[in-house]
Amino acid sequence: MKTLNDNVSRRRFLQFGAYGLVAVPVVGALGWATAAQAATKVDENSDTAQALAYRHDAATVDHPAFVEGSNCANCLLYTDTGGDWGPCAVFPGQQVAAKGWCTAWVARS
Ligand code: SF4
Repeated sequence: MKTLNDNVSRRRFLQFGAYGLVAVPVVGALGWATAAQAATKVDENSDTAQALAYRHDAATVDHPAFVEGSNCANCLLYTDTGGDWGPCAVFPGQQVAAKGWCTAWVARS
């Protein structure tokens, strides 16, 4: 036999369940946006950047492997976002300058 308390508890449970169904995608979307916004620019002085001779400006590169005209914007590993900065597979979670360069440069075909 159901009591008034059982009905109230069930109603509250269903209410919170509905809130949860709405909250999960909203929080997920916010978290995704925050993560994308939080992508920091590569620090030229970081160990990885130094190892790859990464520079924000290819015009300042003085490296034997440098190919004239090469830069991040025309590198296969660069995800062009249409802006001055974008993701690179070599620096996950960070952004490199479109006019940057490093020794891992691979020409887009
Ligand atoms: S791998 Fe390509 S896109 Fe990434 S930093 Fe080096 S040159 Fe730029």
